[in-house]
Amino acid sequence: MAIALYARKSVERENSISCETQIEYCKSVLKPDERNEKILTFIDNGFSGGNINRDGFQKMMKLVKQGKVSKVIVYKLDRISRSLSDFVNILQEFKEHNVEFLSSQESFDTSSPYGELIVKILMVFAEFERTSTINRVTQAYAHRSEMGFYMGGRQPYGFELVPTVIHNIKTKKLNPIPSEIEQIRYIFEVYAQENVSLRRLLDILIAENKKPLNGSDWSTAKLSTLLRNPIYVKADSDVYDYFDRHGVQMITDVSMFTGKYGAQLYGRTKHKSDDPDWSDMKLVLLTHNGIIDSDIWLKCQRKLEKNKQIGNSVSNRTSWLSGKIICEKCGHTMTTIKGKINKDGEIRRYFNCTGKSYKKICTGPKVSIYAEDLENMVYDCIAEKMSELTETKHTAKKSDAVEINDLKLKIKAIEKAEKQLLDTMLTSGFNEDLLTIANQKATQLKRDRLALHDRIEELKSQSTETEVVVNLAKSWKTADYNRKKAVAMILIDKIMISEDGSTKIVWNI
Ligand SMILES: [Zn+2]
Repeated sequence: MAIALYARKSVERENSISCETQIEYCKSVLKPDERNEKILTFIDNGFSGGNINRDGFQKMMKLVKQGKVSKVIVYKLDRISRSLSDFVNILQEFKEHNVEFLSSQESFDTSSPYGELIVKILMVFAEFERTSTINRVTQAYAHRSEMGFYMGGRQPYGFELVPTVIHNIKTKKLNPIPSEIEQIRYIFEVYAQENVSLRRLLDILIAENKKPLNGSDWSTAKLSTLLRNPIYVKADSDVYDYFDRHGVQMITDVSMFTGKYGAQLYGRTKHKSDDPDWSDMKLVLLTHNGIIDSDIWLKCQRKLEKNKQIGNSVSNRTSWLSGKIICEKCGHTMTTIKGKINKDGEIRRYFNCTGKSYKKICTGPKVSIYAEDLENMVYDCIAEKMSELTETKHTAKKSDAVEINDLKLKIKAIEKAEKQLLDTMLTSGFNEDLLTIANQKATQLKRDRLALHDRIEELKSQSTETEVVVNLAKSWKTADYNRKKAVAMILIDKIMISEDGSTKIVWNI
Protein backbone atom coordinates (compact mmCIF):
# COMPACT_ATOMS: atom_id res chain seq x y z
CA MET A 1 0.00 0.00 0.00
CA ALA A 2 1.20 3.49 -0.82
CA ILE A 3 0.21 7.07 -0.17
CA ALA A 4 -0.19 9.07 -3.38
CA LEU A 5 0.60 12.77 -3.57
CA TYR A 6 -0.88 14.43 -6.63
CA ALA A 7 0.03 17.84 -8.12
CA ARG A 8 -1.21 19.65 -11.21
CA LYS A 9 -0.14 23.01 -12.56
CA SER A 10 -2.63 24.59 -14.88
CA VAL A 11 -1.95 25.75 -18.39
CA GLU A 12 -4.25 28.70 -18.06
CA ARG A 13 -2.48 30.38 -15.17
CA GLU A 14 1.07 31.59 -15.59
CA ASN A 15 1.96 32.29 -12.00
CA SER A 16 0.00 29.60 -10.21
CA ILE A 17 1.69 27.62 -7.47
CA SER A 18 4.37 25.17 -8.73
CA CYS A 19 4.00 21.39 -8.56
CA GLU A 20 7.00 21.16 -6.22
CA THR A 21 5.38 23.55 -3.75
CA GLN A 22 2.08 21.68 -4.00
CA ILE A 23 3.89 18.43 -3.11
CA GLU A 24 5.49 20.18 -0.12
CA TYR A 25 2.00 21.18 1.06
CA CYS A 26 0.82 17.58 0.63
CA LYS A 27 3.77 16.29 2.66
CA SER A 28 2.98 18.76 5.44
CA VAL A 29 -0.33 17.02 6.17
CA LEU A 30 1.20 13.53 6.41
CA LYS A 31 0.74 12.09 9.89
CA PRO A 32 3.98 11.26 11.77
CA ASP A 33 3.45 7.51 11.43
CA GLU A 34 2.75 7.86 7.68
CA ARG A 35 6.20 9.26 6.94
CA ASN A 36 7.64 5.74 7.01
CA GLU A 37 5.12 4.47 4.45
CA LYS A 38 5.71 4.26 0.72
CA ILE A 39 5.06 7.69 -0.80
CA LEU A 40 4.38 8.02 -4.55
CA THR A 41 4.32 11.37 -6.32
CA PHE A 42 2.23 12.04 -9.43
CA ILE A 43 2.72 15.27 -11.35
CA ASP A 44 0.93 16.83 -14.32
CA ASN A 45 2.70 19.98 -15.41
CA GLY A 46 0.88 22.27 -17.83
CA PHE A 47 -2.44 20.42 -17.80
CA SER A 48 -5.86 21.97 -17.45
CA GLY A 49 -8.33 20.73 -14.85
CA GLY A 50 -11.07 20.72 -17.46
CA ASN A 51 -10.79 16.99 -18.10
CA ILE A 52 -9.04 14.01 -16.51
CA ASN A 53 -6.94 12.93 -19.52
CA ARG A 54 -3.69 13.65 -17.77
CA ASP A 55 -0.73 11.19 -17.71
CA GLY A 56 0.12 11.48 -14.04
CA PHE A 57 -3.48 11.38 -12.97
CA GLN A 58 -4.26 8.32 -15.09
CA LYS A 59 -1.20 6.49 -13.70
CA MET A 60 -2.37 7.21 -10.17
CA MET A 61 -5.94 6.08 -10.88
CA LYS A 62 -4.60 2.81 -12.34
CA LEU A 63 -2.87 2.06 -9.03
CA VAL A 64 -5.99 3.11 -7.12
CA LYS A 65 -8.05 0.61 -9.13
CA GLN A 66 -5.47 -2.09 -8.41
CA GLY A 67 -5.96 -1.45 -4.69
CA LYS A 68 -2.39 -0.29 -4.23
CA VAL A 69 -3.19 3.13 -2.79
CA SER A 70 -4.46 3.78 0.74
CA LYS A 71 -4.63 7.56 0.62
CA VAL A 72 -4.54 10.40 -1.93
CA ILE A 73 -3.37 13.83 -0.89
CA VAL A 74 -3.70 16.99 -3.00
CA TYR A 75 -2.86 20.63 -2.39
CA LYS A 76 -6.40 21.77 -3.25
CA LEU A 77 -9.59 20.06 -4.45
CA ASP A 78 -9.48 21.70 -7.87
CA ARG A 79 -6.16 19.97 -8.61
CA ILE A 80 -8.13 16.74 -9.16
CA SER A 81 -10.71 18.27 -11.48
CA ARG A 82 -12.63 21.44 -12.00
CA SER A 83 -15.65 19.58 -13.24
CA LEU A 84 -18.14 18.63 -10.57
CA SER A 85 -19.34 15.46 -12.31
CA ASP A 86 -15.76 14.19 -12.88
CA PHE A 87 -14.93 14.98 -9.31
CA VAL A 88 -17.94 13.16 -7.89
CA ASN A 89 -17.08 10.08 -10.01
CA ILE A 90 -13.50 10.12 -8.77
CA LEU A 91 -14.64 10.43 -5.14
CA GLN A 92 -16.87 7.41 -5.75
CA GLU A 93 -13.89 5.49 -7.18
CA PHE A 94 -11.82 6.36 -4.09
CA LYS A 95 -14.64 5.18 -1.85
CA GLU A 96 -14.96 1.85 -3.66
CA HIS A 97 -11.26 1.15 -3.22
CA ASN A 98 -11.14 2.38 0.39
CA VAL A 99 -8.91 5.28 -0.51
CA GLU A 100 -8.82 8.12 1.99
CA PHE A 101 -8.81 11.51 0.33
CA LEU A 102 -7.29 14.63 1.79
CA SER A 103 -6.73 18.18 0.62
CA SER A 104 -4.03 20.19 2.38
CA GLN A 105 -5.96 23.45 2.08
CA GLU A 106 -9.57 22.44 2.61
CA SER A 107 -9.97 20.21 5.61
CA PHE A 108 -12.85 17.76 5.60
CA ASP A 109 -13.62 14.13 6.20
CA THR A 110 -15.07 12.57 3.05
CA SER A 111 -16.48 9.65 5.03
CA SER A 112 -19.06 11.80 6.86
CA PRO A 113 -22.19 13.11 5.10
CA TYR A 114 -21.27 16.55 6.36
CA GLY A 115 -17.82 16.36 4.74
CA GLU A 116 -19.31 15.08 1.51
CA LEU A 117 -21.72 17.99 1.43
CA ILE A 118 -18.93 20.51 1.98
CA VAL A 119 -16.87 18.94 -0.81
CA LYS A 120 -19.79 19.08 -3.24
CA ILE A 121 -20.58 22.69 -2.46
CA LEU A 122 -16.92 23.65 -2.68
CA MET A 123 -16.84 22.06 -6.11
CA VAL A 124 -19.86 24.10 -7.22
CA PHE A 125 -17.90 27.24 -6.61
CA ALA A 126 -14.69 25.77 -8.04
CA GLU A 127 -16.25 24.59 -11.31
CA PHE A 128 -17.65 27.96 -12.24
CA GLU A 129 -14.33 29.54 -11.47
CA ARG A 130 -12.87 27.70 -14.45
CA THR A 131 -15.21 29.34 -16.93
CA SER A 132 -14.21 32.80 -15.86
CA THR A 133 -10.50 31.94 -15.81
CA ILE A 134 -10.62 30.73 -19.40
CA ASN A 135 -12.62 33.77 -20.45
CA ARG A 136 -10.14 36.13 -18.87
CA VAL A 137 -7.20 34.48 -20.60
CA THR A 138 -8.94 34.54 -23.97
CA GLN A 139 -9.58 38.23 -23.54
CA ALA A 140 -6.00 38.91 -22.60
CA TYR A 141 -4.62 37.27 -25.73
CA ALA A 142 -7.23 37.71 -28.42
CA HIS A 143 -9.62 40.49 -27.63
CA ARG A 144 -7.73 43.33 -26.07
CA SER A 145 -7.89 45.24 -29.32
CA GLU A 146 -11.67 44.87 -29.46
CA MET A 147 -12.20 47.77 -27.12
CA GLY A 148 -13.84 50.64 -28.87
CA PHE A 149 -15.80 48.90 -31.60
CA TYR A 150 -19.45 49.71 -31.61
CA MET A 151 -21.06 46.33 -32.20
CA GLY A 152 -24.09 47.59 -34.08
CA GLY A 153 -27.70 47.76 -33.09
CA ARG A 154 -30.08 50.65 -32.67
CA GLN A 155 -28.71 54.04 -31.87
CA PRO A 156 -29.11 54.39 -28.10
CA TYR A 157 -31.01 57.37 -26.76
CA GLY A 158 -28.65 60.17 -25.77
CA PHE A 159 -26.06 59.51 -28.45
CA GLU A 160 -25.50 59.97 -32.15
CA LEU A 161 -23.37 57.56 -34.17
CA VAL A 162 -20.48 59.14 -36.01
CA PRO A 163 -18.06 57.33 -38.32
CA THR A 164 -14.56 56.84 -36.98
CA VAL A 165 -11.48 54.69 -37.58
CA ILE A 166 -10.02 52.44 -34.86
CA HIS A 167 -7.04 50.16 -35.57
CA ASN A 168 -7.40 51.06 -39.27
CA ILE A 169 -10.94 49.71 -39.30
CA LYS A 170 -13.91 51.90 -40.15
CA THR A 171 -16.45 51.76 -37.35
CA LYS A 172 -18.82 54.06 -35.48
CA LYS A 173 -18.37 56.04 -32.33
CA LEU A 174 -21.02 57.34 -29.94
CA ASN A 175 -21.16 61.10 -29.53
CA PRO A 176 -23.29 62.43 -26.67
CA ILE A 177 -26.28 64.70 -27.33
CA PRO A 178 -26.13 66.99 -24.25
CA SER A 179 -29.87 67.71 -23.92
CA GLU A 180 -30.76 64.02 -24.08
CA ILE A 181 -27.93 63.07 -21.70
CA GLU A 182 -29.38 65.53 -19.18
CA GLN A 183 -32.71 63.72 -19.35
CA ILE A 184 -31.06 60.30 -18.98
CA ARG A 185 -29.24 61.45 -15.85
CA TYR A 186 -32.56 62.62 -14.42
CA ILE A 187 -34.25 59.27 -15.23
CA PHE A 188 -31.52 57.28 -13.45
CA GLU A 189 -31.55 59.61 -10.43
CA VAL A 190 -35.32 59.40 -9.98
CA TYR A 191 -35.50 55.63 -10.47
CA ALA A 192 -32.60 55.03 -8.06
CA GLN A 193 -34.76 56.46 -5.26
CA GLU A 194 -36.61 54.08 -3.03
CA ASN A 195 -40.30 53.44 -3.71
CA VAL A 196 -40.07 54.71 -7.28
CA SER A 197 -41.38 51.95 -9.54
CA LEU A 198 -41.16 52.10 -13.33
CA ARG A 199 -44.82 53.08 -13.40
CA ARG A 200 -44.20 55.88 -10.88
CA LEU A 201 -41.15 57.01 -12.87
CA LEU A 202 -43.31 57.19 -15.98
CA ASP A 203 -45.96 59.21 -14.10
CA ILE A 204 -43.30 61.64 -12.88
CA LEU A 205 -41.93 62.14 -16.41
CA ILE A 206 -45.41 62.71 -17.80
CA ALA A 207 -46.31 65.13 -14.98
CA GLU A 208 -43.13 67.11 -15.61
CA ASN A 209 -43.70 66.94 -19.34
CA LYS A 210 -40.30 65.40 -19.96
CA LYS A 211 -40.94 63.65 -23.26
CA PRO A 212 -38.18 62.01 -25.33
CA LEU A 213 -36.69 64.79 -27.42
CA ASN A 214 -37.40 62.92 -30.66
CA GLY A 215 -41.08 63.55 -30.06
CA SER A 216 -42.22 60.05 -29.10
CA ASP A 217 -43.60 58.98 -25.71
CA TRP A 218 -41.99 57.14 -22.82
CA SER A 219 -43.35 53.77 -21.76
CA THR A 220 -42.32 51.52 -18.87
CA ALA A 221 -40.83 49.11 -21.45
CA LYS A 222 -38.76 51.90 -23.06
CA LEU A 223 -37.61 53.16 -19.66
CA SER A 224 -36.69 49.65 -18.60
CA THR A 225 -34.57 49.14 -21.74
CA LEU A 226 -32.88 52.48 -21.20
CA LEU A 227 -32.11 51.82 -17.52
CA ARG A 228 -30.62 48.43 -18.36
CA ASN A 229 -28.26 49.72 -21.02
CA PRO A 230 -24.60 49.70 -19.87
CA ILE A 231 -23.82 52.26 -22.56
CA TYR A 232 -24.64 54.91 -19.93
CA VAL A 233 -22.60 53.57 -17.02
CA LYS A 234 -19.12 54.63 -16.05
CA ALA A 235 -18.03 50.99 -16.14
CA ASP A 236 -15.75 50.01 -13.26
CA SER A 237 -14.80 46.69 -11.66
CA ASP A 238 -18.19 46.45 -9.88
CA VAL A 239 -19.93 46.65 -13.25
CA TYR A 240 -17.51 44.04 -14.59
CA ASP A 241 -18.43 41.74 -11.68
CA TYR A 242 -22.14 42.32 -12.23
CA PHE A 243 -22.03 41.05 -15.83
CA ASP A 244 -19.45 38.37 -15.07
CA ARG A 245 -21.73 36.99 -12.32
CA HIS A 246 -24.60 36.83 -14.80
CA GLY A 247 -22.54 34.63 -17.10
CA VAL A 248 -21.93 37.29 -19.78
CA GLN A 249 -18.75 36.75 -21.85
CA MET A 250 -16.43 39.58 -20.95
CA ILE A 251 -14.58 40.77 -24.04
CA THR A 252 -12.55 43.59 -22.55
CA ASP A 253 -10.03 42.83 -19.83
CA VAL A 254 -11.06 43.76 -16.28
CA SER A 255 -8.03 46.07 -16.01
CA MET A 256 -9.68 48.42 -18.51
CA PHE A 257 -12.76 48.90 -16.31
CA THR A 258 -11.50 52.10 -14.76
CA GLY A 259 -14.87 53.81 -14.24
CA LYS A 260 -14.46 56.09 -17.22
CA TYR A 261 -15.98 54.44 -20.30
CA GLY A 262 -19.40 53.13 -21.19
CA ALA A 263 -19.95 49.55 -22.35
CA GLN A 264 -22.08 47.66 -24.84
CA LEU A 265 -23.94 44.42 -24.30
CA TYR A 266 -24.54 42.49 -27.52
CA GLY A 267 -25.34 39.03 -28.83
CA ARG A 268 -28.41 36.92 -28.29
CA THR A 269 -29.88 35.51 -25.15
CA LYS A 270 -30.08 31.73 -25.36
CA HIS A 271 -33.59 30.34 -25.26
CA LYS A 272 -33.44 26.92 -23.71
CA SER A 273 -37.10 26.11 -23.17
CA ASP A 274 -38.17 28.91 -20.87
CA ASP A 275 -34.75 29.55 -19.48
CA PRO A 276 -32.80 32.20 -21.36
CA ASP A 277 -29.39 32.90 -19.94
CA TRP A 278 -26.79 35.51 -20.74
CA SER A 279 -23.98 33.13 -21.64
CA ASP A 280 -24.20 34.03 -25.36
CA MET A 281 -24.10 37.73 -24.56
CA LYS A 282 -20.85 39.67 -24.72
CA LEU A 283 -19.81 42.87 -23.04
CA VAL A 284 -17.30 45.20 -24.66
CA LEU A 285 -15.97 48.49 -23.36
CA LEU A 286 -16.44 51.39 -25.81
CA THR A 287 -14.44 54.60 -26.21
CA HIS A 288 -17.09 57.12 -25.18
CA ASN A 289 -17.26 58.44 -21.59
CA GLY A 290 -19.95 56.94 -19.40
CA ILE A 291 -22.45 59.33 -17.80
CA ILE A 292 -23.96 57.45 -14.84
CA ASP A 293 -21.95 56.55 -11.73
CA SER A 294 -21.60 52.82 -11.30
CA ASP A 295 -23.27 52.72 -7.85
CA ILE A 296 -26.41 54.46 -9.14
CA TRP A 297 -26.51 52.30 -12.27
CA LEU A 298 -26.10 49.07 -10.26
CA LYS A 299 -28.77 50.19 -7.78
CA CYS A 300 -31.15 50.58 -10.72
CA GLN A 301 -30.26 47.08 -12.01
CA ARG A 302 -31.05 45.58 -8.60
CA LYS A 303 -34.43 47.33 -8.60
CA LEU A 304 -35.19 46.20 -12.15
CA GLU A 305 -34.37 42.60 -11.29
CA LYS A 306 -36.71 42.77 -8.32
CA ASN A 307 -39.48 44.28 -10.38
CA LYS A 308 -39.32 41.65 -13.11
CA GLN A 309 -40.19 44.00 -15.94
CA ILE A 310 -41.10 42.68 -19.37
CA GLY A 311 -38.12 42.20 -21.63
CA ASN A 312 -35.87 41.45 -18.72
CA SER A 313 -34.08 38.26 -19.66
CA VAL A 314 -33.41 37.53 -16.00
CA SER A 315 -37.10 37.64 -15.16
CA ASN A 316 -38.01 35.27 -17.96
CA ARG A 317 -35.83 32.45 -16.82
CA THR A 318 -37.25 29.55 -14.90
CA SER A 319 -36.66 29.34 -11.22
CA TRP A 320 -33.39 28.03 -9.77
CA LEU A 321 -35.69 25.78 -7.74
CA SER A 322 -37.10 24.14 -10.87
CA GLY A 323 -37.50 20.40 -10.56
CA LYS A 324 -37.54 20.53 -6.77
CA ILE A 325 -41.08 21.80 -6.25
CA ILE A 326 -43.70 19.11 -5.73
CA CYS A 327 -47.46 19.48 -5.41
CA GLU A 328 -48.28 17.62 -2.20
CA LYS A 329 -51.80 16.86 -3.34
CA CYS A 330 -50.95 14.87 -6.49
CA GLY A 331 -47.17 14.36 -6.25
CA HIS A 332 -46.43 15.99 -9.62
CA THR A 333 -43.72 18.58 -10.09
CA MET A 334 -44.67 22.23 -10.28
CA THR A 335 -43.15 24.35 -13.04
CA THR A 336 -42.93 28.10 -13.49
CA ILE A 337 -45.32 29.89 -15.79
CA LYS A 338 -45.71 33.57 -16.47
CA GLY A 339 -48.77 35.41 -15.20
CA LYS A 340 -50.62 38.26 -16.86
CA ILE A 341 -49.32 41.81 -16.85
CA ASN A 342 -50.38 43.56 -13.65
CA LYS A 343 -51.21 47.24 -13.22
CA ASP A 344 -47.52 48.13 -12.81
CA GLY A 345 -46.75 46.64 -16.21
CA GLU A 346 -44.97 43.75 -14.57
CA ILE A 347 -45.21 40.01 -15.18
CA ARG A 348 -44.71 37.67 -12.25
CA ARG A 349 -43.77 34.01 -12.50
CA TYR A 350 -45.56 31.48 -10.38
CA PHE A 351 -45.38 27.75 -9.80
CA ASN A 352 -48.13 25.71 -11.38
CA CYS A 353 -48.96 22.04 -10.75
CA THR A 354 -48.31 19.97 -13.90
CA GLY A 355 -50.88 17.47 -12.62
CA LYS A 356 -53.34 20.29 -13.06
CA SER A 357 -52.17 21.87 -16.31
CA TYR A 358 -51.23 18.78 -18.34
CA LYS A 359 -53.00 15.84 -16.80
CA LYS A 360 -56.13 17.54 -15.39
CA ILE A 361 -56.03 15.23 -12.37
CA CYS A 362 -55.36 17.85 -9.71
CA THR A 363 -56.67 21.26 -8.73
CA GLY A 364 -53.29 22.40 -7.37
CA PRO A 365 -52.74 24.74 -4.44
CA LYS A 366 -55.58 27.16 -3.76
CA VAL A 367 -53.27 30.18 -3.63
CA SER A 368 -50.76 31.52 -6.17
CA ILE A 369 -47.23 30.34 -5.39
CA TYR A 370 -45.12 33.18 -6.73
CA ALA A 371 -41.66 31.99 -7.79
CA GLU A 372 -39.98 35.08 -6.41
CA ASP A 373 -41.55 34.67 -2.96
CA LEU A 374 -40.70 30.99 -2.77
CA GLU A 375 -37.15 31.62 -4.01
CA ASN A 376 -36.62 34.31 -1.40
CA MET A 377 -37.91 32.06 1.35
CA VAL A 378 -35.77 29.10 0.31
CA TYR A 379 -32.76 31.38 -0.18
CA ASP A 380 -33.10 32.48 3.46
CA CYS A 381 -33.55 28.88 4.61
CA ILE A 382 -30.35 27.80 2.84
CA ALA A 383 -28.48 30.77 4.32
CA GLU A 384 -29.78 29.74 7.75
CA LYS A 385 -28.80 26.12 7.11
CA MET A 386 -25.27 27.19 6.23
CA SER A 387 -24.92 29.45 9.25
CA GLU A 388 -26.44 26.71 11.45
CA LEU A 389 -23.70 24.36 10.31
CA THR A 390 -21.20 27.13 10.91
CA GLU A 391 -22.50 27.78 14.41
CA THR A 392 -22.42 24.18 15.58
CA LYS A 393 -18.89 24.05 14.30
CA HIS A 394 -18.06 27.32 16.04
CA THR A 395 -19.29 25.98 19.37
CA ALA A 396 -17.26 22.90 18.72
CA LYS A 397 -14.29 25.12 18.05
CA LYS A 398 -14.69 26.93 21.39
CA SER A 399 -14.98 23.71 23.35
CA ASP A 400 -12.10 22.34 21.25
CA ALA A 401 -9.88 25.14 22.55
CA VAL A 402 -10.81 24.19 26.10
CA GLU A 403 -10.10 20.53 25.38
CA ILE A 404 -6.78 21.29 23.69
CA ASN A 405 -5.68 23.26 26.73
CA ASP A 406 -6.80 20.41 28.98
CA LEU A 407 -4.84 17.90 26.90
CA LYS A 408 -1.73 20.06 27.05
CA LEU A 409 -1.96 20.10 30.86
CA LYS A 410 -2.24 16.30 30.88
CA ILE A 411 0.82 16.04 28.66
CA LYS A 412 2.72 18.27 31.07
CA ALA A 413 1.71 15.97 33.94
CA ILE A 414 2.88 12.90 32.04
CA GLU A 415 6.19 14.55 31.18
CA LYS A 416 6.65 15.28 34.88
CA ALA A 417 5.87 11.64 35.78
CA GLU A 418 8.32 10.45 33.12
CA LYS A 419 11.02 12.65 34.59
CA GLN A 420 10.30 11.38 38.12
CA LEU A 421 10.41 7.80 36.84
CA LEU A 422 13.75 8.42 35.21
CA ASP A 423 15.07 9.90 38.46
CA THR A 424 13.82 6.82 40.37
CA MET A 425 15.50 4.53 37.85
CA LEU A 426 18.77 6.44 38.12
CA THR A 427 18.77 6.33 41.92
CA SER A 428 17.51 2.72 42.20
CA GLY A 429 20.99 1.27 41.94
CA PHE A 430 19.73 -0.56 38.86
CA ASN A 431 17.61 -3.11 40.73
CA GLU A 432 16.49 -5.42 37.94
CA ASP A 433 12.89 -5.99 39.13
CA LEU A 434 12.36 -2.33 39.71
CA LEU A 435 13.84 -1.51 36.28
CA THR A 436 11.43 -3.88 34.53
CA ILE A 437 8.43 -2.28 36.24
CA ALA A 438 9.81 1.19 35.56
CA ASN A 439 10.31 0.34 31.91
CA GLN A 440 6.76 -0.89 31.55
CA LYS A 441 5.52 2.27 33.25
CA ALA A 442 7.68 4.45 30.98
CA THR A 443 6.31 2.75 27.86
CA GLN A 444 2.74 3.27 29.08
CA LEU A 445 3.36 6.96 29.80
CA LYS A 446 4.87 7.48 26.38
CA ARG A 447 1.90 5.81 24.70
CA ASP A 448 -0.52 8.03 26.66
CA ARG A 449 1.44 11.11 25.77
CA LEU A 450 1.42 10.30 22.01
CA ALA A 451 -2.32 9.57 22.11
CA LEU A 452 -2.90 12.99 23.64
CA HIS A 453 -0.77 14.61 20.91
CA ASP A 454 -2.84 12.81 18.24
CA ARG A 455 -6.07 14.06 19.81
CA ILE A 456 -4.74 17.63 19.72
CA GLU A 457 -3.86 17.28 16.03
CA GLU A 458 -7.33 15.94 15.34
CA LEU A 459 -8.99 18.86 17.11
CA LYS A 460 -6.79 21.33 15.24
CA SER A 461 -7.76 19.89 11.85
CA GLN A 462 -11.43 20.18 12.80
CA SER A 463 -11.08 23.89 13.37
CA THR A 464 -9.82 24.30 9.79
CA GLU A 465 -13.14 22.81 8.72
CA THR A 466 -14.93 25.67 10.48
CA GLU A 467 -13.19 28.23 8.32
CA VAL A 468 -14.28 26.46 5.14
CA VAL A 469 -17.91 26.55 6.26
CA VAL A 470 -17.69 30.23 7.06
CA ASN A 471 -16.46 30.86 3.52
CA LEU A 472 -19.35 28.82 2.12
CA ALA A 473 -21.86 30.97 4.00
CA LYS A 474 -20.18 34.01 2.48
CA SER A 475 -20.19 32.48 -1.01
CA TRP A 476 -23.92 31.85 -0.73
CA LYS A 477 -24.57 35.54 -0.17
CA THR A 478 -23.08 36.40 -3.55
CA ALA A 479 -24.13 33.27 -5.44
CA ASP A 480 -25.51 33.84 -8.95
CA TYR A 481 -28.37 31.96 -10.60
CA ASN A 482 -26.32 28.92 -11.66
CA ARG A 483 -24.64 28.54 -8.30
CA LYS A 484 -27.92 28.90 -6.43
CA LYS A 485 -29.35 26.19 -8.65
CA ALA A 486 -26.38 23.87 -8.06
CA VAL A 487 -26.36 24.40 -4.29
CA ALA A 488 -30.14 23.84 -4.13
CA MET A 489 -29.66 20.59 -6.09
CA ILE A 490 -27.14 19.39 -3.51
CA LEU A 491 -28.89 20.52 -0.34
CA ILE A 492 -32.56 20.04 -1.11
CA ASP A 493 -34.32 16.79 -1.89
CA LYS A 494 -37.68 18.39 -2.60
CA ILE A 495 -40.01 21.18 -1.57
CA MET A 496 -43.61 20.16 -0.92
CA ILE A 497 -46.38 22.67 -1.53
CA SER A 498 -49.63 21.81 0.19
CA GLU A 499 -53.11 22.76 -0.94
CA ASP A 500 -53.23 25.82 1.33
CA GLY A 501 -49.89 26.99 -0.06
CA SER A 502 -47.79 26.09 2.97
CA THR A 503 -44.27 24.91 2.21
CA LYS A 504 -42.12 22.09 3.52
CA ILE A 505 -38.47 21.72 2.57
CA VAL A 506 -37.04 18.19 2.62
CA TRP A 507 -33.27 18.48 3.06
CA ASN A 508 -30.63 16.08 1.86
CA ILE A 509 -28.82 16.48 5.16
ZN1 LIG B 1 -51.12 18.74 -8.05
